[in-house]
Amino acid sequence: MATIAWIGLGNMGGAMTARLVAAGHRVLGVDLNPAARAAAAAAGVTVVETVAEAVAEADAVFTMLPKGEHVRAVYEGADGIWANAPQDALLADSSTVDIDTSRHCHETSQSLGFRFVDAPVSGGVAGASAGTLTFMLGGSSEDIDAAAAFITPMSGNIITAGGPTAGIAAKLANNMMLFISLLAAAEGSQLAAGLGLDPKTFWEIARVSSADSWAMRTWYPVPGIVPSAAANQNFDATFQTLLARKDVALAVDAGTRNDLSLPAAQLALAQFDRLIEEGLGEKDCSLIVKLVSADGAVDGYDAAVD
Ligand code: NAD
Repeated sequence: MATIAWIGLGNMGGAMTARLVAAGHRVLGVDLNPAARAAAAAAGVTVVETVAEAVAEADAVFTMLPKGEHVRAVYEGADGIWANAPQDALLADSSTVDIDTSRHCHETSQSLGFRFVDAPVSGGVAGASAGTLTFMLGGSSEDIDAAAAFITPMSGNIITAGGPTAGIAAKLANNMMLFISLLAAAEGSQLAAGLGLDPKTFWEIARVSSADSWAMRTWYPVPGIVPSAAANQNFDATFQTLLARKDVALAVDAGTRNDLSLPAAQLALAQFDRLIEEGLGEKDCSLIVKLVSADGAVDGYDAAVD
């Protein structure tokens, strides 16, 4: 069994490391947040204080951090991954980051003699807990094969997207589509209610009709319909609005650089900005549903509980 270093034990990293532990790997984890550290320790992760300690004997090093700036920060510097990991450790970033950060990780790793793959994921916390995430990988075919050996216990699908940064490119396009379809599920759920339909009956119809989507099946923003939805837990985050906003902004930026018009993505971005302006950036992105009602009141959300 392998020794795996894991930096970032949050909503996703916590669930993903639990799968690696269950598969018999020794996992050394790091996080800044005491609650994330405690939850990971309870799941069998050996929680250590520094990145240097975590990576010192690693066969593989994974990062699962909010943004590109966090990934760069843990790779660089005297306490960072590049300065402390064994030369033969396989390095993989599963965070959703900008393409420039991913390219920087590939190029610097290569110049320092490390193997690096971009390894973003899709499937949410539900997929992470079940070990059914889709991994989309970018890098050389040899490095991707090496990464796949570590990834298998966490994944339902491992797909080579192409060379360096192709995984993250696929992830940005995928998530732009996800958040546009989340908007559709949010608005459709409220229109159905406004027209007097029973929420569960409408969901059952849409689920096997042309409105079906991953957002519909996994994040439907109405309580009591889909077990994995944040709507059942006062919209506590499985995927924070701030991170959803980041993903759509990265997609819109990539579109601008490629001379593309993406008005639906821009609308999703504007809606997430409204939620963030209301101070709800740390709530689940599916709380976007509250913007549909005139007074911001929506089933499943009670601001007083926060
Ligand atoms: P999260 O905020 O729950 O977890 C990130 C963790 O990183 C936090 O616990 C934080 O304390 C830790 N962290 C930040 N800086 C650190 C540092 N310097 N050293 C150590 N730990 C540090 O976020 P998440 O939902 O787990 O998402 C992680 C990444 O995965 C993001 O890029 C996100 O866009 C992507 N993603 C999330 C989902 C999802 O459904 N939540 C799905 C696919 C991809």
